[in-house]
Amino acid sequence: ALVRRTVFVTGAVDLKGCPSPDRGECAFIGRSNVGKSSLVNMLTNRKSLAFTSKTPGKTQQFNYFAVNDKPELERQIRYGDDVGGSKDRDSFYIVDLPGFGFAKVPQKQRQQWSDFMEEYFAKRKNLKVVFHLIDARHGPTEEDGRIMQKVGNLLDSNKTTYVVILTKADKNVKGADSEKNPGKVSNKVWEKLLETMKANKVGYAPIVLTSANTRLGRDEVWKYLRLAAEV
Ligand code: GDP
Repeated sequence: ALVRRTVFVTGAVDLKGCPSPDRGECAFIGRSNVGKSSLVNMLTNRKSLAFTSKTPGKTQQFNYFAVNDKPELERQIRYGDDVGGSKDRDSFYIVDLPGFGFAKVPQKQRQQWSDFMEEYFAKRKNLKVVFHLIDARHGPTEEDGRIMQKVGNLLDSNKTTYVVILTKADKNVKGADSEKNPGKVSNKVWEKLLETMKANKVGYAPIVLTSANTRLGRDEVWKYLRLAAEV
C-alpha cells in the first residue's frame, strides 16, 4: 500500500548527474553481498528490482529509483520532455550507492567514487535518510568504519537521518542476551558495532535489525523511509 510503483530513473557518476532534487531521497550503502538488493526488494514488494549496480561497469554509479511516480516521469527525466507535473505527492527516490568491497576496483576509480560520495553526503539537499547496511553475522568491516567517519563528519544530522541496518538477522543467536542486544546478533558483533559507531561519532544512530527472508524490520525501516516521502 505504501509503494505503488518503482522505476529506475538514472545512474549518476557525479552530483550534476543526479536528478533534480524535487523530492526527498534515501540512500542505501553497504559492501557487496550485504543483502542490499534483497532488502530493497522486500521494502518495495518487488521480486527483483533491476539493480543495475550489479551490471559490470555500472558498479560505480549512484542508481536512482523513483518510488510512487507517475509513469511519464522517467521519460521526462531522461529526455527532458516536458510532460508537466507528474510527481506524485508521496514520491521519493531510493538511491543505490555503489557496493564497496570489490577487490579489483582500480585506485583511480575508488578515489573518484569516494570524492563523489563525500560531495553527495555534504551537498545533496534533499537527502533525508542514509541507510548503512552491515551484515548481522559479521559486523562492521574497516571500510564500514570509514563510511561512518564520513557520515559523522559530513552529514548534517538536522537534515539527514543516519540509520544502521543489520541485515540477514534471521536467527536468534545463542548468548546474545545482554540487555541492549536484541538477540539476533552475537555479543561480539554487537559490542564491535557499538564501539565502531562511537569511535566514528555516530553513536547516536538507530540500529534496525532486518531480514529479507522473514521480513523482520520492515515496518521500522519504513518509519524512516517515510521521512523521505514527506517533503
Ligand atoms: P547485495 O549484493 O548487497 O545486493 O546482496 P543480495 O541482496 O544480492 O544478497 C546477497 C546474498 O545474501 C544472497 O545470496 C541472498 O540470498 C543472501 N541474503 C540476502 N538477504 C538475506 C537475509 O535477510 N537472510 C539471509 N539468510 N540471507 C540473505
